[in-house]
Amino acid sequence: MKHHFTFLTAFIAFSFATSSSFAVAHDDHAHEEYQTWSIAIHGGAGTMDRDKMTVQQQAEYEAALQSALDAGAEILRNGGTAMEAVQAAIVPMENDAKFNAGRGAVFTWEGENELDAALMDGASRKAGAVAGVKSVKNPILLANAIMQDGRHVFLSGAGAEEFAGDAKLELAGPEWFATERRREALERMKEQQLSVLDVDHKFGTVGAVAFDKEGNLAAGTSTGGLTGKRWGRIGDVPVIGAGTYADNRSCAVSATGAGEYFIRVGVAQEICTRLRYRFLADIEAAQRSVPLDADGVPTYLVHASEFSLDAIAVQEEADAVMAEVKDLGGSGGVIVVTPDGDAVFSFNTPGMYRGRATSAGVNEVAIFASE
Ligand code: ASP
Repeated sequence: MKHHFTFLTAFIAFSFATSSSFAVAHDDHAHEEYQTWSIAIHGGAGTMDRDKMTVQQQAEYEAALQSALDAGAEILRNGGTAMEAVQAAIVPMENDAKFNAGRGAVFTWEGENELDAALMDGASRKAGAVAGVKSVKNPILLANAIMQDGRHVFLSGAGAEEFAGDAKLELAGPEWFATERRREALERMKEQQLSVLDVDHKFGTVGAVAFDKEGNLAAGTSTGGLTGKRWGRIGDVPVIGAGTYADNRSCAVSATGAGEYFIRVGVAQEICTRLRYRFLADIEAAQRSVPLDADGVPTYLVHASEFSLDAIAVQEEADAVMAEVKDLGGSGGVIVVTPDGDAVFSFNTPGMYRGRATSAGVNEVAIFASE
């Protein structure tokens, strides 16, 4: 509901309705409007095979997703910001070796863990992003520090590490990030000359998107990238508009999948832009359908606050963009949260580690597409 005011700025041209009637409507609903919040998280998409996952493994993933979701939801429920909630959900997944972010990140061809992350604030469209860091325990916090500093949006490598030191962020040695399972995957890739997709059946990137009671959106994503990546390869995750994007006028998106395709489609920003223009088009169509008076003037003016995009429309746009990824040959998924409080998933893989919670009472985690 709160989105009506954020969308409103984009549709000021339609705001000919008397300001007093609008103000009354605003005041009447203020209490209700400020109660809406929602959050969605992911821990990567891919070939989640029920037969290959034990009951215990499934339970462990579900528990990890639930506790990350709870950490973010708790903040939103208590009136905290979407920016805080996104980071609170991502940090535990970065610290959990089950996911390909922070501890448990995949290995580069040279046998190192190089981390990428990004964070974006939908209210200001400020963003922070980092690529190729090796010693920052929680890259999502580094992305936040870059954003708060404000001088630059995107830092990489040694310079980013120096910045992290100056910002007094917690550092960690290679042994913190390295896990046997990921090292074995790199060795198997080399020995059997496997492609990335053959060795990484699952993308384990983590992400969160949130909508807070103040009506603000935020998106964050963190990853180790792809097993065996070379030559300083950077994926979609820290590329603002590809793997991560937030804009209060439309939505917040975090992606996971074969990053090269997500960069080429510009997935996260494409979904937001489609939603923004779809909303505009709906209002314009409604205005055109208003009866005219004898002088040919519309008998009333349609107001942006009378409109919202429902979850079905959001799903359609997210699915359409993911279909573009698939057409180019890519796989993966996205999580999307809107200013209506809808939390939507779209993925073209057999599964995606995911969860969502909203002020309307939704609270669920899932792994397989059929769930
Ligand atoms: N999108 C990430 C990348 O290409 C990988 C992932 O989602 O796990 O770096």
